[in-house]
Amino acid sequence: MSTADADLIRQSANVLAAAIAAGEVSAVEVTKAHLDRIDAVDERVHAFLQVTAEQALAHAADIDARRLSGAALGPLAGVPIACKDVLTTKGIPTTCGSGILRGWIPAYDATVVERLRAADIVLLGKTNMDEFAMGSSTEHSAYGPTHNPWDLTRIPGGSGGGSAAALAAYEAPLAIGSDTGGSIRQPAAVTGTVGMKPTYGAVSRFGLVALASSLDQAGPCARTVLDTALLHAVIAGHDPRDSTSINAPVPDVVAAARKADVRGLRIGLIRELNGDGYQAGVRSRFEEAVGTLTDLGAQIVDVQCPNFTYALGAYYLILPSEASSNLARFDGMRYGLRVGDDGARTVEQVMSLTREAGFGAEVKRRIMLGTYALSSGYYDAYYGQAQKVRTLISRDFAAAFEQADVLISPTAPTTAFTIGEKVDDPLAMYLNDIATIPVNLAGNAAMSLPIGLAPEDGLPVGLQIMAPPMADERCYLVGAALESALLDRWGHPLLDEAPQL
Ligand code: GLN
Repeated sequence: MSTADADLIRQSANVLAAAIAAGEVSAVEVTKAHLDRIDAVDERVHAFLQVTAEQALAHAADIDARRLSGAALGPLAGVPIACKDVLTTKGIPTTCGSGILRGWIPAYDATVVERLRAADIVLLGKTNMDEFAMGSSTEHSAYGPTHNPWDLTRIPGGSGGGSAAALAAYEAPLAIGSDTGGSIRQPAAVTGTVGMKPTYGAVSRFGLVALASSLDQAGPCARTVLDTALLHAVIAGHDPRDSTSINAPVPDVVAAARKADVRGLRIGLIRELNGDGYQAGVRSRFEEAVGTLTDLGAQIVDVQCPNFTYALGAYYLILPSEASSNLARFDGMRYGLRVGDDGARTVEQVMSLTREAGFGAEVKRRIMLGTYALSSGYYDAYYGQAQKVRTLISRDFAAAFEQADVLISPTAPTTAFTIGEKVDDPLAMYLNDIATIPVNLAGNAAMSLPIGLAPEDGLPVGLQIMAPPMADERCYLVGAALESALLDRWGHPLLDEAPQL
């Protein structure tokens, strides 16, 4: 790779967009540099399931031509992006990391993808994920695991490990994820990148293949808080094709990221998301970040959210219930794989053979859990109870937001664990999302950003900032302030510490 290419791939989306707009570099050159990087490292990282090199270069060439002709382009025009393979892309295979969707080519773009294209952001390809977004390590992908660029023997988080690893490996400056219980934030935390779960309903779910519809939310990922905000502004906003889409102005996240100021803000420490069960280095970095926020002029307050203790239990009833219903559509008739259709078998037999062959173990486990929880006689005892807990968690948040403008916690209890360590222990895997799940249950906004390396293993630690519904800009205000203070301390972005691939 030339030094010019090496420079390009390390730039932020904000800098790249400005250079492209000024004609200092072309969109084709920027796209090519990233495709070369993917060629050089992705065999080892395996962030991508599909690289759309030809389409990307053609789109970039078109952007360059339009710029030369004086056409007005969007604020991120020509900047490349990696998209989690859970969003439909017209004419480009979409697998959700599942064998059952092998070979399925959607006939339409998700709204998020449509907005990326309209903004002239260049799609590099689709990224790896746990099957149907179930998991915290990307090991449940039917196409093999993704490796963490910080240490290739470790997981990149999940379910959106591919998108996070693509950012950390400098294969893309921007990425899209989806977060049902933490799948944007936890991968961001363990790869030293930034990930935002917007308020539920703030980003369209049209074309986002459903895991649990009342929890799912697509969102922006990048290496800096400002880049994340710029992408957030492109994808957010009302969509009449999504019945839960919020019809209200998008908070000014970009202005907040540029303002980067916590003076006078009340920042709440959630007692239940701290202490026992968190790795020592995660705790020490977190405490240091709390100190930094105090130095920057924030007021730290202690808050209690007693019902958070039940969040994981409620989530693992609600999610499988909704998933078991959503995944019924994969029946071998409509999408992708079909097994045993030899003319001698009944439709039911073909469906059953297809689902047996096409779904992995974790998906089957959750379908069984969900079907059980929803069955008559158990519905009130399990699903009904879990929905009541959900209300209590929302009330805890509402009470906490009376005392504080934002709430913070570590994003994940540990740094990246090794591939294979938890894959056969579902409960250990589920515990990774202990700090991220409450936000999905309540539907409010939250971001993870890197705050340093754990001293004991040299791996990235993430801090989570939670804001009330439709106050997403507060995550950016606080995140950008903390990021710039940490940058002053270290003099370089955290990712420059990463071992070179
Ligand atoms: N790890 C969580 C789960 O397995 C979260 C998944 C997600 O956010 N998509 O359900």
